[in-house]
Amino acid sequence: MKQHLTILGATGSIGVSTLEVLRRHPECYEIHALTAHRNLLGLARQCVDFRPRLAVVPEAAQLDELARILRMLDPHCPTVLRAGEGALEEVASAPEVTTVMAAIVGAAGLASTLAAARSGKKILLANKESLVMSGPLMMQAVVQGGACLLPVDSEHNAIFQCWPKDEGGRSGVEKVLLTASGGPFLNTPLQDLVKVTPEQACQHPKWRMGKKISVDSATMMNKGLELIEACWLFGLPPEKVEIVIHPQSLIHSLVGFIDGSFLAQLGHTDMRIPIAHALAYPQRQSSGVPLLDLTVAGPLTFLPLERQRFPAVALAEQAMQAGGTAPALLNAANEVAVAAFLAGHLNFRAITDTIAQVLDQLPTQACTTLEEVMEADRRARHSAELILSGRNPC
Ligand code: NAD
Ligand code: MG
Repeated sequence: MKQHLTILGATGSIGVSTLEVLRRHPECYEIHALTAHRNLLGLARQCVDFRPRLAVVPEAAQLDELARILRMLDPHCPTVLRAGEGALEEVASAPEVTTVMAAIVGAAGLASTLAAARSGKKILLANKESLVMSGPLMMQAVVQGGACLLPVDSEHNAIFQCWPKDEGGRSGVEKVLLTASGGPFLNTPLQDLVKVTPEQACQHPKWRMGKKISVDSATMMNKGLELIEACWLFGLPPEKVEIVIHPQSLIHSLVGFIDGSFLAQLGHTDMRIPIAHALAYPQRQSSGVPLLDLTVAGPLTFLPLERQRFPAVALAEQAMQAGGTAPALLNAANEVAVAAFLAGHLNFRAITDTIAQVLDQLPTQACTTLEEVMEADRRARHSAELILSGRNPC
């Protein structure tokens, strides 16, 4: 049976890789909707190529421009254009949609991902921030809505592939090991980190990704967010999730068992692999990426995490231990600080300093409704902005 897909964040790095996989299997997939934010030309081109039923942008003011570009490219394109947060939620929950690729970056993806969970979709989760912000709420929505949450993040997809499918096997899991490449500054002298530029931070040694996640990988907040993501996806306490540096990024993560076995998933550093896996699950389909040639892959090395270099990991652990709205505060402060760094207003080291200050200043509260999560998000953004503007946030 064909899957009917909505791709939230279709013009981003994950969105484009998803469309590349879909293009290989036109008999299996129908595209219901594509969504994007700023790249209207990219979205219009995708409409011409893939002819989705709907295309959605978050702001009403963008609609005329999108319509103009689309008419110019193809006056006969049948795609209907819509705008607004409500429209994003509608295409994520429409009855004819079976599958939602959640690939918007940051908190902007929360409401639509939650709408997909509440309406029982098969969710391919790339937007880790939505789960980090709203862990208990999202997992409850998945259960109550009858959704199927499949991880696309390469580490979590690797863990999912190695994860025991029966209850007995699950009780034998001792820990999971998240691998981290170490990012572009693994070997940069610590005193030089204050001077690194956004361009250097976005030069990831192994993956080509959007700017925000590239900076998160450089600070290692990405691994901190992934630690929280792993706790929710696999029902683990933070002390059962370990991080190990693996600069070659060929082992995407491992599950360790009480009998001394490790199971690992290996593959090229290409997001089409976890995307194709999650799309076809429980079957398999080609992703366009060949198997690794292990005889030329070279040695695989592993190093312990240097916590002084990457204070973001301890901040994420602290937020997960605190629970409630603490991960939402962490995420929002990080989004503000990363945006300021990318705009040239903040030095690299100050990203984690800002987040630590926000976590110190704001109390953690219960996280049972979307409103509570969004209120925590607003407060943390406000507090981070005051810190960045040099004003006393108290
Ligand atoms: P990206 O910046 O390349 O793309 C982001 C997409 O979200 C774009 O389509 C953009 O138009 C849309 N978007 C941005 N702001 C929006 C808003 N306010 N409202 C609606 N749409 C908006 O990012 P990416 O690298 O593709 O990452 C997307 C998500 O996937 C992130 O949560 C990231 O952490 C996760 N992820 C990415 C990778 C990767 O390899 N790129 C790997 C693992 C997880
Ligand atoms: Mg990852």
